[in-house]
Amino acid sequence: MNETLNIAEQTLVLHRHPRNKQETLQAWDSADEYLINYFTDNELGKHLGADEQMLLINDSFGALSCYFQEIERTAISDSYISLSSIKLNMQRNNCSEENIVVQDSLQNFPSNVKIVLIKIPKTLSYLEFLLQKLREVITPETIIVAAGKVNMIHNSTLALFEQYIGSTKTSLAKKKSRLIFSLVEQQNIPEKEIAITWEIEKQQWKIHNHANVFSRNHLDIGGRFLMDNLPEGPFSKVVDLGCGNGIVGMAAAEAYPNAQVTFIDESYMAIDSARINMAKNLPEDQSENARFVVNNGLVGFKPKTYDLILCNPPFHQQQAITDNIAWSMFNDARFCLVDGGELVIVGNRHLDYQDKLERIFGNCELVSENQKFVILRAVKED
Ligand code: SAM
Repeated sequence: MNETLNIAEQTLVLHRHPRNKQETLQAWDSADEYLINYFTDNELGKHLGADEQMLLINDSFGALSCYFQEIERTAISDSYISLSSIKLNMQRNNCSEENIVVQDSLQNFPSNVKIVLIKIPKTLSYLEFLLQKLREVITPETIIVAAGKVNMIHNSTLALFEQYIGSTKTSLAKKKSRLIFSLVEQQNIPEKEIAITWEIEKQQWKIHNHANVFSRNHLDIGGRFLMDNLPEGPFSKVVDLGCGNGIVGMAAAEAYPNAQVTFIDESYMAIDSARINMAKNLPEDQSENARFVVNNGLVGFKPKTYDLILCNPPFHQQQAITDNIAWSMFNDARFCLVDGGELVIVGNRHLDYQDKLERIFGNCELVSENQKFVILRAVKED
């Protein structure tokens, strides 16, 4: 796997994180390259005044943050893994940390922004959230350039730029990526609430979903199946691993009222939604006893701590489909379970999580199944 990016007079060594032994994917893509080349060919840096800075939105693994190391900048993402990767790749390339702020997308954007580079995210709702926030800090002099794979740039994508920023055009495609240029023109756009709320009828819970939360428009059917198949037992320390809006952990809090539930996700928006949902829907003492942690799975958690870990595993990292994350989550779950503790997961039938669990735990029981999903249970033995 090529981990060296040679571009516009810089050589950067960039790793994806978490790093896998047999990694087949690069830590940057042709959209990153297009943005860097456009910036340097057009000498955009010349437009930056002394007190002005650059905003880098959705830099996946740090290619942009590292390349623009000489420039005052803020890197913004909803992904804990991306923000950690940016920091690690900056260290790897000896970039100074003094002229960069790395922050999640729920925080306020800086106000002295002159140049904005955006990598187009997977969902329109998250793009709309970002553009709405961007509106608050840009002026007609702000230069905005976005980039993405051709198959991620649709008429609806460009329509959002037109709506929130102003006249928008695209470049020719290069290596299957395209640039988007938007002129800041629009004024007085009414503020729109992008987070949405819907109800789970059975429990009458009102579920809040920030713009970038998994399955934000409806209850995920895998998650629903897991909620309906929680194990019985006197559990006291439970984890909802990859919690999204928190529905599985909330079902656990209801099923085991004395348990402390820890919600973990790598999306800041997911953790904030889970926190809101516990507070709105479960008794106060239970939501106060819950913990909400933005993290890469259980990395860094203490061994032998939890007696039940529940998981509806992710099968994407950024745009790539992968089972690496599920694999690490299962390994880390075994490490963090007490002896006799259980990992209970839901998965699409075809994903063959059974084989993984048998290899890691030495056992795996099929608890329930329907046409699409299986619920699997693995117990940590001494
Ligand atoms: N539990 C929720 C449900 O059932 O609707 C969401 C399940 S969704 C399939 C997987 C979740 O894992 C997503 O919310 C995603 O943000 C999160 N995730 C992905 N990679 C992660 C990682 N490395 N560490 C923690 N969470 C992760």
